[in-house]
Amino acid sequence: MNSPSVYVHIPFCKARCGYCAFSSCTDMSLTEDYFAKLFAETDYYADRSVPVYTVYIGGGTPSSVPTEYLDALFDRLRRNFDLSRVREITVECNPESADDKLFECLVRNGVNRLSFGLQSVNDATLRRIGRLHTYRRFCEALQRARSFGFCNVNADIIIGLPETHADFIRSVREAAALPLTHLSMYALELHPGTPLFEQSGGVDFFDGDEQADMYDEAVAVLARQGFERYEISNFCKEGNECKHNLNYWREGRYFAFGASASGFVGNARYVNPRSVKEYMTTSVSQMHSFERQVIDPNEEANEFVMLGLRLEQGISGSEFAARYGEDFWRFFLTADKLRADGFLIADGDRIKVPSDKFYVINSILAELWKSQ
Ligand code: SF4
Repeated sequence: MNSPSVYVHIPFCKARCGYCAFSSCTDMSLTEDYFAKLFAETDYYADRSVPVYTVYIGGGTPSSVPTEYLDALFDRLRRNFDLSRVREITVECNPESADDKLFECLVRNGVNRLSFGLQSVNDATLRRIGRLHTYRRFCEALQRARSFGFCNVNADIIIGLPETHADFIRSVREAAALPLTHLSMYALELHPGTPLFEQSGGVDFFDGDEQADMYDEAVAVLARQGFERYEISNFCKEGNECKHNLNYWREGRYFAFGASASGFVGNARYVNPRSVKEYMTTSVSQMHSFERQVIDPNEEANEFVMLGLRLEQGISGSEFAARYGEDFWRFFLTADKLRADGFLIADGDRIKVPSDKFYVINSILAELWKSQ
């Protein structure tokens, strides 16, 4: 097996954001038992035969748990996996819980990338969506992080929040001027049952056309500040692509631990129980016997293309042929027509969606998918 990645889900959060549909939990009294379960799960998958490529600790809010738990988690990962050649270790943080004690813990555990949930630079928006930080608190946390030597830092921002078009562009402009190496920009999704869904009646705060304009404007602002788009929602300064996510998008393998975490090991995908309580009460062996889905090569070829074409550099035609024993242009019956209509391009060995067609990428992928 090529070097796999490792994902660990820490579901705890101090409060629930108004739009949250992730597996998250505000009952911090479950922390001890949750970590015990997490450790048992990593023991079950322990494999020191191949070096791990990247580690990503996400959530939830990993920075909200006492650092003793994070130290113990890294000890366990080092015991169960070979981290001697790991290229990138990312930890997600929220500004309000990112303090010196946390940064010290992350430094001693070899973390070399941070990912902050910023979402917006407008405090009124942050309050409205239930975030606990202010923009100022975020800037202070970023400055402290840099003083501890963290120079590879991402911030997430959300497009489509209840604020004006101009507010959103201000967020992009200000975030792009900060000492960040990476920005992720995801569209707000309104999920039934969340406070923001109730407030909006389930109707998006912007229609599709306006959101597409906001996205295009943001891409232009980011490009001017040296942030290149390398995936539809991800932008970075040169050489700072997130290696962990690239491994997902290139159909690499990864272990995943914790509630709602999904892994891809060998030829099987698995998904852990979504609810924290269900995850904690299901035995590890039970979990991994009933949630496995074997992926056949055809399915994997589809996934490889659906994920890879979201990348600016697309996929390699020769890699596709070597992996799946088929020529891309024959495998997908609509591929030639999409190329003739300008929705796909062949650039040497690379097969890509042209930059100016990224806004309709979902329709392009749907056309390909149905033709296979
Ligand atoms: S920080 Fe993330 S996981 Fe936690 S409540 Fe907010 S959106 Fe959900």
